[in-house]
Order: sequence, then C-alpha cells, then structure tokens
Amino acid sequence: MIRKIQVREILDSQRQPTLEVGLETDDGLFQASVPSGASKGKYEAKALGVGKAIKNINEIIGPKLKNRDVIEQKEIDQLMNDLDGTGDKSKLGANAILAVSMAVARAGAVAKNLPLYQYIFYSTFSTAVEKVLQMPRPCFNIINGGAHAHPVRGLVSNGASNDLAIQEFMVIPQMESFEENLRVGEKVYHYLKEILEKTFGKSGIKLGDEAGFVPPISRTKEALDLLMKAISSADIGLDCAASQFFKDGKYNLDGKEQGREELLNFYQDLTKNYPILFIEDPFAQDDWEGWKKISSKLLVVGDDLTVTNPKRIKMAQEKKACNGLIIKPNQIGTITETLEAIKLAQSFNWKIVVSHRSGETNDDFIADLAVGVGADFIKAGAPATPERMAKYNRLLQIEKELS
Ligand code: PEP
Ligand code: MG
Repeated sequence: MIRKIQVREILDSQRQPTLEVGLETDDGLFQASVPSGASKGKYEAKALGVGKAIKNINEIIGPKLKNRDVIEQKEIDQLMNDLDGTGDKSKLGANAILAVSMAVARAGAVAKNLPLYQYIFYSTFSTAVEKVLQMPRPCFNIINGGAHAHPVRGLVSNGASNDLAIQEFMVIPQMESFEENLRVGEKVYHYLKEILEKTFGKSGIKLGDEAGFVPPISRTKEALDLLMKAISSADIGLDCAASQFFKDGKYNLDGKEQGREELLNFYQDLTKNYPILFIEDPFAQDDWEGWKKISSKLLVVGDDLTVTNPKRIKMAQEKKACNGLIIKPNQIGTITETLEAIKLAQSFNWKIVVSHRSGETNDDFIADLAVGVGADFIKAGAPATPERMAKYNRLLQIEKELS
C-alpha cells in the first residue's frame, strides 16, 4: 500500500536538474530517478521543468496514489495517464510520471518477494510463454560524436568537441558471459585511450556525454579505423542520430551535403569494410523512404523513429522501416507502456536494445528491465563513469544470481 510519495531535485551526469522519487509503502522506501537526453526525438513524451514536475507529484499524483496497492502497476500507470490526459504527458510531465512508475515497480517487486528483473519478467510474459532469462549483450559507446561531443548544454561543457556527425561508435563484444563482455569492453576502452594519447597527445583527449572519448577528428572512417585498432574480435554498432545532421532535405555528414541515396551507399560501404552489427537512426525521424531502403539490407534500429511508442512502432512495422529498436522508458513515460512497446516489437521479431540516456543518474532500473524482457542488447555508455557503471555492475550482480 502506498503511504506517501516524496520527491526531490537531484543533478544528473550533465549537472542538469532531475527528479528523484521516494515511495513509501508498508515494505519500506523505494527510490527512482529519471534521466534525460541531449538528442531527443521529436515524438518523445514531454518532460517538464523539474520545479513543475515536483509540484505535480506533490499536488496531483501523490494524493491520488495514496493507499493504492503497488502491485497494480497497470492501473496506477493508467490512472496517471488519465490524470494527465494529453497523450504526450505534457500536463503532468513524462519525467514526473516515469519516476513514480519506476518506484511503483520496485515496490511491487518487493511486495511479491521477487528481484526486479523477475518481477518484470512475470509481468511481461504470461506463464504460457516459454522464455528463459538471458543476459543482454552490452554495447559500449567509446567514441562520442554529434550532440554528445559538442558543448550543447553550454554551462556543463568540459570543452570536449569534435566534428563527427555520427553520435555513437559502440563496441559490442560477444563472449560467453556478461562478465567477460564487460572485461573486454573495459580493456578495449583502456587500449583505445592509449592509442588516442599516442596519436593526439595526452591533453587532447576529453570525454563526451556518455563517457566515450572525443578525439579531434571529423570523418566517420577515422573513428572506425581508431576503433579497429583497439578491438580484436568484437562487433561495432553505430548510432547515427541522423535527425541531428538532417537539414533542408540533406544530410550534412563528413564535410558534404548528401542526399538519401548517397547516404545509403555510404552506409553500405561502411558495412562492407567494418564489422558493423547494427545501425541506429541511419535516417531522420520522418524520412521513411530512407529507412525502408536500408532496413531491407541491414540490422537497423529505430530510436528517434520509434520513441518506445507502440503507435510509432506499428507504423514502422507497416512501412518495414526497421527490424530493431531502442527502448528508453522516458521516451514514453510509464513502465506499462514500455513493456507494451517491447512486447509489440518482439511480436515482429525485432531486436531489442534497452538504453540509457546521455544525461543519467545512478539509477540502475534499465539493467533489470533488459534482463526481465529478454533484451538482445543494452547500451549504457562507456564502461567508465559511475552513472554508466551502475547499470553494468547491476548486470554483473544479476548474472551471478542467475547462475
Ligand atoms: C541516443 O540517441 O541513443 C542517446 C542515448 O542519446 P540521448 O540520450 O542524448 O538521446
Ligand atoms: Mg539513439
């Protein structure tokens, strides 16, 4: 039974204000905090300023949820959606709603005496579905470009900057266990640092928003060649975040304005020459034609395109625009809708990539989420700073429990 909901302002990894909720039940206090993105999709649910979101929890959500049973996740999420009434959560704020929704899930797991990942597993799949809990493959974003390597947030910039259009260059190991994958990720990160220091000098290497390096380069292949020097057998994932370099019908990439066909050829050339496992957001969020063309050829992951939203996911399936997707709970704003989005994508046989945001907290919810839904991958940045390690360390713990 929910007794009380407290909420306060904390700072995220970009030193931007965000929310932390403390939900009190008969079993104790359950906390949750929410992240935020620098390269947001235009169809994401809307977060509000932290002051307004706190007020909405204190004055609207909190009083309505008092005495509700925390195992009623669906009903509670529906109630918050009804109180909001906008469809994009712009009245109460997706950040306010999600923080409460996550804390309710944590409390629900304890009420059922289950670890969070198992609670998510049982709430997602009916017992009729034969599914085994599995560890996701980690995607470590170790070279940052795009919006994650520019001082977009003004005040919080550490001066890191480059002209790479592509936002994320991820290394994806495939060892027997998550523990080994993490060890490989850490080694590659360390080795890449040495290579960068030798190439560009010690003082030139800063970290971007997701703790990957920001080498002073401007061409996609330069970044990929550096990665290739650091890996032996791992795969590579790219998040192009193409909406960020799309303007007036053209893609501004690698010093050129490119049309859709040119960009498609560019990607095909990359996949021929490098071990690229998937490409995320290769085209802009409304450029359906580009998406259709590329997804018939590659593993293509929607993020800004699909925004964890069942309606957008259905559209993407109808148009055969992608065959994988990024899952970010704060793009949609409740745990119930996040699970719906995942189930829908799984029914299309898409690959599932559970993801952090560039502005993170130490909350490790997405680690349990990834295991609980049987996600294929998780991306939580470079294996370096505490807000990223929180997720990877939680996965280590889960793997121990499962073995
Ligand atoms: C992404 O685009 O996948 C991402 C994690 O970045 P952000 O959180 O800035 O949207
Ligand atoms: Mg993305």
